[in-house]
Amino acid sequence: MPANYQAEIVGVFGQPVAENPTGIMQEAGFVAAGLNWRYLNFEVPPENLGAAMRAMDALGMRGVNLTIPHKVAVISHLDDLSPEARAIGAVNTVRVIDGKKIGENTDGKGFLRGVRIDAGVNPAGKRVVLLGAGGAARAIGTELVLAGAADLLVVNRSLVRGRVMVADLRTATGGPVRFAPWRGTYAVPEWCDVFVNATSIGLFPDVEAMPDVNFAAASNKMLVADAVFNPPETRLLATAKARGLATLDGLSMLVYQGVIAFEMWTGKSPDERAMKSALREALGVA
Ligand code: NDP
Repeated sequence: MPANYQAEIVGVFGQPVAENPTGIMQEAGFVAAGLNWRYLNFEVPPENLGAAMRAMDALGMRGVNLTIPHKVAVISHLDDLSPEARAIGAVNTVRVIDGKKIGENTDGKGFLRGVRIDAGVNPAGKRVVLLGAGGAARAIGTELVLAGAADLLVVNRSLVRGRVMVADLRTATGGPVRFAPWRGTYAVPEWCDVFVNATSIGLFPDVEAMPDVNFAAASNKMLVADAVFNPPETRLLATAKARGLATLDGLSMLVYQGVIAFEMWTGKSPDERAMKSALREALGVA
C-alpha cells in the first residue's frame, strides 16, 4: 500500500482554548481507531471567526468544535443547522457534508447519553428540574424535552434569561416547559425524578461553592446530575451522595459530547474507554 502522510484535521475554535482538554480525548480516540487524524486547539478572537471558518474550506478540514465565545456567532457562517442545533440556538460542532458546513449541538445529546448509559435512566416520562438558563441548560433542556420528558421546570436566578429560554424551548419543541425564579434556597420537590445543575456554580477554582438547594423533601429515587466537570465530584454531587441519591458527573456529558462529534466526523464508533481515560488523565482525575 502506498504511504499516506496526509492527516485529516479537526479542532476547536475559541478564546481561550489553551486549557481545553477535548483534543486529548479525541486524539486518543483517533489512535485507538487507527485513524490518521489530528485535533488542534485554535485561538480565534471574535473578529477572526469568519476567516477561520473560510480557512476550513481552504485547508480541507473535516470539522470543528466551537467554544466560548463562538457558539452562537458561528451560525451566520454555516450552510445549514441540524433541527436540534436550531432549537437550542447554539452550535458546538460543525461537520462538513458535500462541502457544506452543517451546525450541530452535541452537548445535550452527550448529556442524554450519559443519563441513559451511565445512570441507567430513561428520560421519557420523567419530571425534571433544571437549574440554569445558559448555553448548557438550553442544550440539556432541549434534548430532554425531545426525548419525551413529561415536565421541565427551569429554575434560574435571572428572570429575563430564564423566561426567554423557556419561551424559546416551548416554541422550538412544543414541549412541557415551565419557569420558576430562583430566590433563596430552592427546595427540590418530591415529584422531581431528575435534578440537573447546568449553572457554573462549583466550577474550579470555586470548588467549595454549591447551588443553594435543599434535598430534604426530594424522592430517594431522584437522580442528581451536574454539568460541571471540573472537579468531577462537585460539592453538589457529594451532598447528593451523602443523602443516598444516585448521581451523574459532568465528565460523562463531556466524554459523550466528544464521542458523538467523533462519530459525526469520522462515521466510526470510537473506543469510548480510551477517550474517557485520556480525559481523566489530562484532568488529573483518578
Ligand atoms: P453560561 O454562562 O451560558 O450560563 C451560566 C448559568 O449559570 C446561568 O444560568 C447563570 O444564571 C448561572 N449562574 C452562574 N453563577 C450563578 C450564581 N452565583 N447563582 C445563580 N446562578 C448562577 O454557562 P454555560 O451554560 O456555557 O455553562 C454552564 C456550566 O456547564 C459550566 O460550568 C460549564 O463548564 C458546564 N458545561 C459542561 C459541559 C460538559 O460537557 N460537561 C458542556 C458545556 C458546559 P443567570 O442567568 O442568573 O446569570
